This record gives sequence, C-alpha cells and structure tokens, in this order.
Amino acid sequence: MTGAGRLAALIREEQPCVVLTGAGVSTESGIPDFRTRTGLWAEYDPMEYATISAFRRDPVKVWDFYAKRCEVLATARPNAAHLALAELERRGLVRALITQNIDLLHERAGSAAVVEVHGSIRTSSCLSCGHVEPLDGVLELLRSAPAPACRECETILKPDVVMFGELLPPQAIDRAFDLARDAALLVVVGSSLEVHPVAGLPGETLAAGGRLAILNRGRTPYDAQAAVAVDGSAGEVLSAVVEALA
Ligand SMILES: [Zn+2]
Repeated sequence: MTGAGRLAALIREEQPCVVLTGAGVSTESGIPDFRTRTGLWAEYDPMEYATISAFRRDPVKVWDFYAKRCEVLATARPNAAHLALAELERRGLVRALITQNIDLLHERAGSAAVVEVHGSIRTSSCLSCGHVEPLDGVLELLRSAPAPACRECETILKPDVVMFGELLPPQAIDRAFDLARDAALLVVVGSSLEVHPVAGLPGETLAAGGRLAILNRGRTPYDAQAAVAVDGSAGEVLSAVVEALA
C-alpha cells in the first residue's frame, strides 16, 4: 500500500483524529519555512528579528521582517494540503487542527476547528494602550510608514504572533495538549517537531495510548514511533488521502 493509502486507512480506523501542522504545510503556497536551507532563518537572524527583546529594543527593525511577511501572507492562497484537511474536517474525519503557522491559510481553506498555538497575523496589538488593529489596517499603515503605529497612542504595534522569549497563548496550548491526549490518532503534517512545547504533543498522544502518523519532507525525532511516516509533498499525499476516503 502507498503511504497515502496507509494514512487513509489509519484515519478511517482511528477516531478521533487530530492534525498538527507546521511550516511545511504552507511552503506549497509559496510561504518560506524557517529552518531549511532556503528558509527565513537562512536570511534573517531570528535573534535579531524574531525575539521579544529584539522587538522591544528596535520594533521598526523587526517590522522590516514582518512587513514583508504580512505582504506575502496577505495574498497567499491555501494549497491542496490545506483544502484536503478542511475537507476531512467537513467529513467528520478530523476533530481539530493544531497549527504552528500564523498565516491564516487553514481558515481561508475552510477549516473551522483551528487552534493557533503561535498566534497569527490576523491582528497586531499596542503593548501600551491595548488597541487591536486588524491585518487590513496594518497593511494600510505600512503603505505610509516602515512600521505601523497605534492609532490611539502612536506606539509601534506588535504583531499578535508568538516571538521567541514569549509564552504561548495559554488557552491555545492547553487546548492543544487536551486534544493530543484525547486523540486516537495524531497526524503531523509539515513539522520537523523541533520547537517545544508543540514538539511534545506527539508524546502526549502516545503516552495516552493513541497512535501517531507523520507526513513531512525529511525526518523527525518521532518517525520510529509513528504507525506511518511518509516523506513527501503534503498537497499530493493529502489529496490522495481524501480520494482514498471518498
Ligand atoms: Zn496604543
């Protein structure tokens, strides 16, 4: 049986199924990932552009990085992998989707039960007065300035994404761990499972007696413990899974 066939069989047999996605699910939408040779961290030093202390030190510089990302993300379209996962949810075969991505593409593809553990670019917030600016407003502000300033108090806004050195949103991460523990099957898509605490989710599922499936380009530390580990294109494999489950 092909990798897609084995993955489809597992999803059919092991319910409830929860999905965990990382940057690899969005690369086919033209969004660069972080840790590969062509990833963002090869061009931008995360210590200078992605930590909360870097933001506090020089928010305008950090926005040089985020402004470009927001522009790409604002026009990015869901790919076959996002659409397949939304379809599996509609068919009742996926209970929820936990994502490390901030790009809103699962929502745009039609997934409803999405847990964003690293926040998203949906909004940016003022750390001084609490004003919240939606993405459209941020993009508008970026047209006339290198960094968006709060409309109320002119402090530079912070994108509501989790930066290194910040805690993950507690509600989202608690929900993610509950989902992982209750899952009969956790399907990991496009994550190399290197960033904690999200990298701990497969261990929660396994410890609670659930099974693990991995679809990723390249190896992960959990491959040996997975019932199925497929090295391939998320879009191609998940489209084939949807077809096999029709
Ligand atoms: Zn403000």
